[in-house]
Amino acid sequence: HELKVHYETSGGLFSAGSLPVRAVDGVSLELKRGELLALVGESGCGKSTIARTLVGLTEPTAGDIIYAGQNVGNFSPQERQNFRRSVQMVFQDPFDSLNPRKTVFSTIAQPLRIHKIVPRAELKAEVIRLLNAVGLSPAEAYLGRYPHQFSGGQRQRICIARAIASRPKIIIADEAVSALDVSIRAQILTLFRKLTQELDLASIFITHDLSVVRSLCESVAVMYLGQVVERGPTERVFTRPQHPYTRALLQASPIADPDVARSRRGFLLEGDVPSPANPPAGCRFHTRCPIAQPKCASEPPALRSIEGVEAACHFPEGWRQTEKVSRAEEA
Ligand code: SF4
Ligand code: MG
Repeated sequence: HELKVHYETSGGLFSAGSLPVRAVDGVSLELKRGELLALVGESGCGKSTIARTLVGLTEPTAGDIIYAGQNVGNFSPQERQNFRRSVQMVFQDPFDSLNPRKTVFSTIAQPLRIHKIVPRAELKAEVIRLLNAVGLSPAEAYLGRYPHQFSGGQRQRICIARAIASRPKIIIADEAVSALDVSIRAQILTLFRKLTQELDLASIFITHDLSVVRSLCESVAVMYLGQVVERGPTERVFTRPQHPYTRALLQASPIADPDVARSRRGFLLEGDVPSPANPPAGCRFHTRCPIAQPKCASEPPALRSIEGVEAACHFPEGWRQTEKVSRAEEA
C-alpha cells in the first residue's frame, strides 16, 4: 500500500513516496512545476484521502513523504512548518471551511502571521493584495466583512486567497467548485488557471466532474477503489481512453465536444462500487467490467504504456474489438 507523489521544482524534487493509506493502494502521481493535474473518480475511491494525507490532515499509517529529497517524517518542527506552508488545500464547501466569526481580514491574515510572510506593519497591504489577486475588489471594502455577507463564489475566492497567502508551491483543491452554481464554476476555474501560471504553482484538482478536468487540467489520473487505473495527457485520455472504467466515466458525462463524443463508445456503469476496505482480488474493476476475463479476477494489472497513456488493464485490445464490432454494425 503506497502513495507516491513527485513534484519537481527547479530547486529540487517533492516526492511523496511509499505512503500507505487506508483505501489507497500503490498510487503514484507525478506533478510538474506549473502543472494542473486532475484526480478523478467516484466518491469513495480514495481521492480525498490522498489530498488530506499530503497536506498532513490524515496521518499515513506508515511510509514516507519525500519533499525536496528529504523525508518529511524526519523533519525538524521548522522544516515541517515549511512543508505545511508549501502545500495548501482548498475544500469543497467554502462556507464550512471559513470561520463565521472571523472577518475576511483576520481569516487571510492568519496564515500570514503564522508563517511570518510579511512584517506586522504590512499585513493589511498584503491582505488587500491577495484579495485583488483573487478578483475581490475593491478589497478595502471587504476587509471587515464576515463570510455570510458573501456569495458562494466569493467565499471560495476568500478560501483561495487564504491558501495562496503562505506562498505555497502546491495547491490541492478537493471538489473546489462542486458546491458552486454552474455559472460561477467557470470563473473560479479561470482563477485557478491564472494563479497557477502567475504564482508558478502546481495544483492537484480533485473532482468527479469530467467537464472541469477538460477545461482546466492538462493531465489526468483516474482512480478506482484506491488505485490509479489510467493517467496521461487530458486530451489523450478523453479522446482515446484505454481503461474500461475511464470509458464508462466518459460515457456517463455530458461532455458536448464532438471529439470526445466520438470516443464515448462505452457502457453504463452498473453494479455497486465494492467496499474500498475489502476490494476485489485481481483487477479491482473486474466485478463491473464488461470485458473481464478469468485472469482479471486473480491477477492485478499494473499501469503500463498503451496508446500514449498509461492504463492498468490486461485486455485493452478487448475493448477495441468490441468497438470495431459496433462500428461494423452501425455501417
Ligand atoms: Fe476489465 Fe480485466 Fe481490464 Fe480489469 S484488467 S479493466 S477486469 S479487462
Ligand atoms: Mg471526496
